[in-house]
Amino acid sequence: ALVVRHRMKSSGKWAQALSILREFEEKCGTPISKLKQVADAMTVEMHAGLASEGGSKLKMIISYVDNLPTGDEKGLFYALDLGGTNFRVLRVHLGGKEHRVVKQEFEEVSIPPHLMTGSSDALFDFIASALAKFVATESDGLHFSPDRQRELGFTFSFPVRQTSISSGTLIKWTKGFSIDDTVGQDVVGELTKAMERVGLDMRVTALVNDTIGTLAGGRYHNPDVVAAVILGTGTNAAYVERAHAIPKWHGLLPKSGDMVINMEWGNFRSSHLPLTEYDEALDAESLNPGEQIFEKIISGMYLGEIVRRVLCKMAEEAAFFGDTVPAKLKIPFILRTPHMSAMHHDTSPDLKIVATKLKDILEISNSSLRMRKVIVELCDIVASRGARLSAAGIVGILKKTGRDAVKDGEKQKSVVSLDGGLYEHYTKFRTCMEDTLVEMLGDVSNNIVIEHSNDGSGIGAALLAASHSQYTEADES
Ligand code: BGC
Ligand code: MG
Repeated sequence: ALVVRHRMKSSGKWAQALSILREFEEKCGTPISKLKQVADAMTVEMHAGLASEGGSKLKMIISYVDNLPTGDEKGLFYALDLGGTNFRVLRVHLGGKEHRVVKQEFEEVSIPPHLMTGSSDALFDFIASALAKFVATESDGLHFSPDRQRELGFTFSFPVRQTSISSGTLIKWTKGFSIDDTVGQDVVGELTKAMERVGLDMRVTALVNDTIGTLAGGRYHNPDVVAAVILGTGTNAAYVERAHAIPKWHGLLPKSGDMVINMEWGNFRSSHLPLTEYDEALDAESLNPGEQIFEKIISGMYLGEIVRRVLCKMAEEAAFFGDTVPAKLKIPFILRTPHMSAMHHDTSPDLKIVATKLKDILEISNSSLRMRKVIVELCDIVASRGARLSAAGIVGILKKTGRDAVKDGEKQKSVVSLDGGLYEHYTKFRTCMEDTLVEMLGDVSNNIVIEHSNDGSGIGAALLAASHSQYTEADES
């Protein structure tokens, strides 16, 4: 009798755990009708953000990039790419139309976590000294004439109010960075002062967001590139807008007629977004409550954490992992999106990888197969919601630029450059995003191409540094 009662009890618990999962699944639902509403809301907010400063949660930042690379760029340029947990320094030798990228070298440095929440000087000193070390490895063959200053494209992947192509003030940090004394400062000024402190003579000639760098890098290889999207630690998009369609732009109309806009779509928010209690709690306990809501349900920094939060609730309220809640499961951000991805892609019949991850990360060693199946399903719910919403965001941009319909049978090709670890490494996320685009666009999707721009943001910054060089081409030696 005792045994039977125990079994009854545990199957009741199991049903309870499943009902938590089902309720979450329902709240995360993204039927096409909803995605269309999200895409429409994105278009509406784009208009509002372009109309006036502060007109929308979408900042629609004017990048001052009104010309994208043509292939003519020549010379030796540096780039610095700061945005996630790593930063990269690059040296790019551009050979013009015929020779293109002659040589490219880079180094990747991981940022010690304490610098992400320390002081501005400490962060920029660390970056400047890594850059100085890298510059010191320049080979003699590539050496500059002594009267020519080295030039740098600075990819800084946070919301910056640009004041020119080579300056801009930090609006706020995102993605786990939180350094109060940088907010409101010109980040090029911060970097330049740090370069002076470490004795490095270099000038920043272009300050760009990673979306802008990716767009520039993509355009360099393909003239049909009209937008760029980052799906990585954070998420964002940039696209080419017609300058006369930007009411808040009071400058001269650029010769090209175009202006690249950094949307900062991570901060998009709409009543149509499928938000759950877990998202609300994640947001409230984050470094930036109330901010970056779209980013918090889409990007790599957060997906694993959402899964952890749901599992925690299942453990606490339905004894999903047994009578006690595994201690590790209570640690925020312990379950990273790459772990989640590995579990989600587990195709072994007994879900060995899920078992291993549970054991290694959460110290759960007694998982049953049916538990592991539930976890894979949970990963699928969280990843699909993010992937489908990113597709809706892209459709929003296509709508705004009139590329969401075929005009008079004309075959207008639109290429979107994609980059970021989530897109690159989380296969199920990527395919779901691409399938959703087709689902939303129907036949038009034949004219839309998604192109992976592998680390285009660094090269893109070097290209923009070249086209905004203080030297004219005649100075090229
Ligand atoms: C930042 C954007 C950036 C994106 C992708 C977001 O958190 O606000 O500026 O482009 O992450 O790196
Ligand atoms: Mg990056």
